[in-house]
Amino acid sequence: MGFCLFNSVAIAAHALKAEQGVEKILILDWDVHHGNGTQHLFEDDPSVLYFSMHQFPYYPGTGDANEAGRGRGLGATINVPLPAGCGDIEYSGALRRILVPVALRFRPQILLVSCGFDAHRADPLASMELTAEGFAHMTRIVRTLAEDVCGGRLVLLLEGGYSAAGLREGTAAVLDEMLAAQTRPIPPAADAPAGSMLSAVVKQVADVHRRFFPDLGAA
Ligand SMILES: [Zn+2]
Repeated sequence: MGFCLFNSVAIAAHALKAEQGVEKILILDWDVHHGNGTQHLFEDDPSVLYFSMHQFPYYPGTGDANEAGRGRGLGATINVPLPAGCGDIEYSGALRRILVPVALRFRPQILLVSCGFDAHRADPLASMELTAEGFAHMTRIVRTLAEDVCGGRLVLLLEGGYSAAGLREGTAAVLDEMLAAQTRPIPPAADAPAGSMLSAVVKQVADVHRRFFPDLGAA
């Protein structure tokens, strides 16, 4: 839809399947836009679980929680639509409460991340409030998760980011976590601020996906 000539993460997933014999791949997309292309390419493929967190409603208009895959791929597309204004607590909370239980059950052999920085608070396009600290926290969660489920196999691919400062801060924070000799401890979950939509979004996603992931939303 105009943001990329080549879909790097989709090409990587396809190559892993076709050339490396990888049978289960999880793509986490925290770019602020819904990855409509990635979703479409794998929506009927149960071997590639596509998990997107994105501002919603927002461009390109897709990514409702009810979009859950098609045919044999039903249940292997998970959309977490976040209202404008979400920040560090909502992003890390959605990872802990939705992504972690999904990945523990799906058991991917590798975790690919569509690592956009356009949910940074300085980004001029979108309306999210992530800070460098939030990107660091998210990276710790996915690094720990990759160690728990797939031997630490984790690849982050650069995607959107339209503030030079946001891109610089976010990239530095992610690389700092990735380059640490050991994964740093994940700080305890902070309480969502008054008015936060986190619990409502988690419930919305759990209601759609509980039939595929029975432990989702139990906590
Ligand atoms: Zn984007």
